[in-house]
Amino acid sequence: MKKGIHPEYYEATVRCACGNTFKTGSTKEELRVEICSDCHPFFTGRQKFTERGGRVEKFKKKYGLD
Ligand SMILES: [Zn+2]
Repeated sequence: MKKGIHPEYYEATVRCACGNTFKTGSTKEELRVEICSDCHPFFTGRQKFTERGGRVEKFKKKYGLD
C-alpha cells in the first residue's frame, strides 16, 4: 500500500453475469463477477449456465463437483 493513500471503503454494487446485483463492502465502488450465490449451481442445484459451455466445467472442477 502506498504511503499517504487511504482507500475508501464503499458499499459496492456487485454485478453478476446472470444479472443479479447485490451489495457488499469493498474498496471499489463496483465489482463484476461471473457467478454468484444466486446462480452458482453449487448453491442453486440448477445449471443456468449450460449454454455458456466451458465455464460450468471449470467451476465443476474448481469445486470438485464432477
Ligand atoms: Zn449470478
